[in-house]
Amino acid sequence: MATKLEYIWLDGYKPTQSLRSKTKIVSDFGGTLAECPDWSFDGSSTEQAPGGSSDCILKPVFICPDPQRRDAYLVMCEVLDSTGKAHESNGRALIDDDDNDFWFGFEQEYFLWDPETNKPLGFPAGGYPGPQGPYYCSVGAKNAFGRDIVEEHLDACLDAGLNVEGINAEVAAGQWEFQIFAKGAKEAGDQIWVARYLLERIGETYGVAVNWHCKPLGQLDWNGSGMHANFSNTTLRTAGDKEVYTKILEAFRPVVAEHIAVYGADNDQRLTGKHETASIHDYSYGVSDRGASIRIPLYTVQKGWKGYLEDRRPNSAADPYKVAAVIIKTVKSAKL
Ligand code: ADP
Ligand code: MN
Ligand code: MN
Ligand code: MN
Repeated sequence: MATKLEYIWLDGYKPTQSLRSKTKIVSDFGGTLAECPDWSFDGSSTEQAPGGSSDCILKPVFICPDPQRRDAYLVMCEVLDSTGKAHESNGRALIDDDDNDFWFGFEQEYFLWDPETNKPLGFPAGGYPGPQGPYYCSVGAKNAFGRDIVEEHLDACLDAGLNVEGINAEVAAGQWEFQIFAKGAKEAGDQIWVARYLLERIGETYGVAVNWHCKPLGQLDWNGSGMHANFSNTTLRTAGDKEVYTKILEAFRPVVAEHIAVYGADNDQRLTGKHETASIHDYSYGVSDRGASIRIPLYTVQKGWKGYLEDRRPNSAADPYKVAAVIIKTVKSAKL
């Protein structure tokens, strides 16, 4: 029997990489990653290689059933250059978490976007809907826009076996969020990218685009989109000591620029100190503080400093692989 494998990868566009995919037909496929052969593509069409030596290699790293296509799987891939080394666009290869000690929960925000009006769903063609307030977690056709797409996406993610933890309508009209959690940084990144892929593809059938930009409505009084990164490792989960948390949080202070560099394009437009964000120029942390760079969830304190942290700075267009990689590096650098 013929099986369709959709090989998915990230292109080389800067500053924001996009999803690319193509279909490989195989026969007698048993559904495991080990059976997925390496493949190649034309890197000169994706800003990943010069035309004269254009081949890049797709190395399968994650597989799940394709919930929307008959006899099919989605295969997330890393990109290698023609010599077999990790391509410079390959953020996943930077993750130093081979024992899956790091758990990540990403809160992916995004706008459903009408390509005709070039505005979010719910925005009238010639102007603006009423101000923010009623849209967050709303119900009813006056305030909630695009629920059919969001519901179809949730079912698709669950059918694919992705560990979605929840969804909600967000603060701006046409803005939504899903959360995905995984034990293992690479796995969390793989699942976010596959969930983004499914959302893009479902949008196609509705003629609705997804706008991942962190501030698509500019500096008007509309929220931007983030991708809060909740993270823990064994140390954070078991510390039982405020001092350990303080040392880890202080390790983030001297490396703000290194983090911001991979926390998504145009983040200066979003991290303004308004709309539940910290200024991009500051570094701060605090218990329950949604105006801080890193929030210490009340849960962590209530459990006696055993829990996790939330870096609120990554934006909706950031690459979860690169976000995880730099967070892991910084946490590991703390002198405990
Ligand atoms: P909020 O909107 O209040 O910031 P959410 O409920 O949307 O919170 O997201 C919280 C996230 O924290 C979830 O994705 C969840 O999986 C994640 N999380 C919870 N415990 C841990 C942990 N120990 N390590 C990493 N992430 C965690
Ligand atoms: Mn949330
Ligand atoms: Mn949110
Ligand atoms: Mn959050």
